[in-house]
Parts: sequence; C-alpha cells; structure tokens
Amino acid sequence: MSQQPGQLTFVAPRRAKPARHLADLAMPDRRAAVAELGEKAFRADQLSRHYFERLNADVNAMTDLPAAARDKLSVLLPSLLTPVKELTTDGGTTRKTLWRLFDGALVESVLMRYPDRVTMCVSSQAGCGMNCPFCATGQAGLTRNMSTAEIVEQVVSGARALAAGEVPGGPGRVSNVVFMGMGEPLANYKQVIGAVRRFVEPAPHGLGISARGVTVSTVGLVPAIGKLADEGLPVTLALSLHAPDDELRDTLVPINTRWKVSEVLDAAWAYAAKTKRRISIEYALIKDINDQEWRADLLGKLIRNKLVHVNLIPLNPTPGSKWTASRPEDERAFVRRLEYHGVPVTVRDTRGREIDGACGQLAATE
Ligand code: SAH
Repeated sequence: MSQQPGQLTFVAPRRAKPARHLADLAMPDRRAAVAELGEKAFRADQLSRHYFERLNADVNAMTDLPAAARDKLSVLLPSLLTPVKELTTDGGTTRKTLWRLFDGALVESVLMRYPDRVTMCVSSQAGCGMNCPFCATGQAGLTRNMSTAEIVEQVVSGARALAAGEVPGGPGRVSNVVFMGMGEPLANYKQVIGAVRRFVEPAPHGLGISARGVTVSTVGLVPAIGKLADEGLPVTLALSLHAPDDELRDTLVPINTRWKVSEVLDAAWAYAAKTKRRISIEYALIKDINDQEWRADLLGKLIRNKLVHVNLIPLNPTPGSKWTASRPEDERAFVRRLEYHGVPVTVRDTRGREIDGACGQLAATE
C-alpha cells in the first residue's frame, strides 16, 4: 500500500462499510431509524441522551427503556472501535490509544489534558493518501475513509475516560477536538462534517463542544476549504503549509503540485473572512530544509496583516526519515523574523513524542 514519492491518493479503496451507528445520523434520521425498528420516535431522543449525555452505549443500563425496546434499539449502537493498545506519558495526562476497526484497519487517537483544557486528537482516515514525506502516516498510504461514527466514537471514548476520573486531574470533559491524527480530513469531507456536527450540536443531538474548540487541519484541498467555509460551522482551520515557496512545498506537501501556495492562502483568507476565525498556519521546522531566515521572511511577507497565527512545530522524528528538528538558534531566528513582520507565532509544545503520539508520528502498528 506504500506510495511512490509525490503520488497522491484521493479516492479511498472500495471496502465494506462499518455498521450504521446512532452517531452517523442527524436527529431526524435517528427518529426515522427508530421508527423503522418499530419503536416510537421519541425513543431516539432517549437513546441520544444516553449516548451523547451520559456517554453510555450499553442498552442494558438504559432502565428507562422497556426490555424489548432495548433489544431492538441495540442495533443502533454497534461496537465500532476495539482498543488494542494504550500508551500514556506526562503522568497519565497524555494517552494514545490504538484502535482496531471492524475490518481490521488500525487507527490512533490521542487525549491531552492541560491545566485549562482537554484536547482529543482524532483520526479521520485509516492511513492517508497525501504522502507528505516527513509524516509517518503518509508513508503507509490510504487504507480507507472512516465513518462519522468511527470518528465520533474516538471522542466519546475519551469523554468517558474523563468523566470516570480515569485521567489524572479529576473528572473532566473534552473541550477541544483537533483533526490532527491520521488522515486528511478534507479528503473524507462528508463523514468529517457529520462528525463535526455531532461534536458541536448540544445534547441530546451531540456532544455540545464549542465550534471554536474544533480544529480541522488540512494539507490544503482548495475546493473543500471553500465548501467548509459555507457550512456555517465556525471551526478553526489549520493549514499545514510547511514552506512559503512552491518549489519546496511541492516536495514537502505533494498536494502543492495541484494547488499552489498562493491559491491555498487565498482559500484560507476567504475562510477567515467568512467565519471570522483566525487561520492557524502549521509549519514543522525541519533542520536545513525549510528553516532558513529568508523563508521566514518570505512567509512573513505572505501572511502579515492577515487574521492568522503561526504554529511552529519542531519536527518529530519518524522511522526511516533523514530529517530532524531545527537547531534551537535557527528556530529562534525564525520566530524573530515572523515577529518582525508582526505575525503572531508560537512554538508548539509537542506532547507524546515518547509514545510516538506526537504530530506526524501516528503509524498505527501493534
Ligand atoms: N492531514 C492533515 C491532518 C493530520 S497531520 C494535515 O496535514 O494537516 C497534523 C499536523 O501534523 C499537520 O500540520 C502535519 O503537517 C503535522 N506533521 C506531520 N508530520 C509531522 C512531523 N513529523 N513532525 C511535526 N509535525 C508533523
């Protein structure tokens, strides 16, 4: 399944689909699904309350439902994710879970608890077709798209662990979701939008997470960025830029051979104008590859005076890659050049490197 350098895969291989789940459906479709099973439509609300509010998917614990209804309705709550392995670090506040999907495909998600928030980093595809050479996920190619419910279940499982007090820091809630796990979210557009809706809709429709707490990260699929802007979902858009010039970006982010730096930035500014949300530019600093001061300067000129924030990510090592993170002095110079242009910039404190759970390290091996 591994890809040739620069090769792009947009269409996921045809595969059997995961079972339909409550979380795949908007409320009207849930009511219809419940009616099809011969139950009163209001049972959809009860079921939703159990799942999205109490985070319970075990019908036997739903004592407000008659026993016969429980049996029938259980088909709407199939088990989609099986935990295979869990690794923790940072005293238990960072945990990476490897999941097996119904067809054996493997994906990972990462929970990160900070003093003021809890972020779930989720996968949207098993593998990825975008083939960025510095990213571990990109090296394996695309296995398949995930369903809406498979994406939602990652967050529900994290929310459950938090509610049960399993994460150090006392009982808590998921406040942020970032699509920075495996996969290119905008290449699985429909399922990802469904998941975003389930995240942001208030209970019992969804999990009630604030849209500003949800970040969709993309290599820059220009038409899909335009579509996202029209959804009326003011989520944060993160753009994985990694180079300000087409010559280098063509090699680091192969989608650039299709949509150039200027086109993807224009799409980002249009997104910001429409949603009033600040664009987050992701830039992994790779020693002697993209970390020169002149590139910081060029980047600064391209994005100054825009509604933007730059997130510099010291490159996380991936197996077989010859690249490493920038020298500290080059990182500092890069930050200074951007600040000179008045561009807000932070260096991301990357979590989970010790458990191969940091950005670009998710490869889902047992
Ligand atoms: N496909 C999407 C989302 C997944 S990657 C995207 O590319 O945006 C999430 C972030 O991690 C992206 O900004 C990606 O470029 C970055 N990343 C990938 N590999 C990395 C690595 N080895 N070190 C640091 N960041 C990396």
